[in-house]
Amino acid sequence: MREELKSCPFCGGEAFERDTIVDGINVHHVTCKYCAADVRAPEPNPAYAVTLWNSRFLELENILEELEIAEAKAWDSLSRYKFQMFGYWAAIWIHLNRISGKNRPNPWRELVMRAREEKV
Ligand SMILES: [Zn+2]
Repeated sequence: MREELKSCPFCGGEAFERDTIVDGINVHHVTCKYCAADVRAPEPNPAYAVTLWNSRFLELENILEELEIAEAKAWDSLSRYKFQMFGYWAAIWIHLNRISGKNRPNPWRELVMRAREEKV
């Protein structure tokens, strides 16, 4: 029997499970629907993500790691003209930056400023 998901440790929101492929490996995630808090576990034990989520594994150290990953994914997406994926990862970065409480400067600020200059 599957373990039931607890609510998000940060915002109390409902969580859901999803699967992705990272570097050719199946990865199972538990993600908050509202604040994008996320834990993941790769094969061979993807169900471990549920255990991690329910054990409140999410700690600042892990959030900061996810923040780095989200930024790297966003830059990578942008470099390949994958604008929709850029938006996805940039939004996750924004959420994680907020819940980390670190309030890091936005890595895409210069791009935003450039866009404002171009705006007619
Ligand atoms: Zn949440």
